Amino acid sequence: MSKLYFYYSVMGGGKTTSLLQTEYNYSKQGFKPLIVKPKLDDREGSQNGFGPIQSRILTGNHQALYIDSVTPEALNGIDFNILLVDEVQFFKPKDIEALSDIVDKRNIPVVCYGLKTDANGNLFEGTAKLLAIADSIKEIKHICKCGSKATMYVRYIDGKVDTSGEAIAVEKGNVTYESVCRKCWKQIHGRER
Ligand SMILES: [Zn+2]
Repeated sequence: MSKLYFYYSVMGGGKTTSLLQTEYNYSKQGFKPLIVKPKLDDREGSQNGFGPIQSRILTGNHQALYIDSVTPEALNGIDFNILLVDEVQFFKPKDIEALSDIVDKRNIPVVCYGLKTDANGNLFEGTAKLLAIADSIKEIKHICKCGSKATMYVRYIDGKVDTSGEAIAVEKGNVTYESVCRKCWKQIHGRER
């Protein structure tokens, strides 16, 4: 029986690197992996259909299918027997249910990678659904500058802490991220008690 897997981490936690490693491992064993990504994530430029997917660590020419939502039409005519999902937090709860149908109805493993929370420490709705229904949930660990485990991240716009409260950064400057532990996150946001 196939499973719905969820690997989560903070920003820069090596999610895409891990996804590409999984793709490589399955390909080597003769499987046909397909990588899908929500179109909302346009760091690689606005995509339609197949486009490049990049990792901070691994290089090489990897392709992902950029889709608006997980529907039979979006995946129509593509031959795959394992599905890898990048930036899964940007999909809607109904897309997460559709991913679980691919597991249950087609017996195809679906391996999702994404963020647990946004920069404000709130769950993404797609992530919340995955946490609720995934068969296997694992954390890809990342370290804070203080040496503790990083479980949150801070968003900076032009070097200043973004306190806008927006889940997704509005493109208004140079956006960078720092993954930190909860204690350091509170210190940076001036929420020490
Ligand atoms: Zn820390």
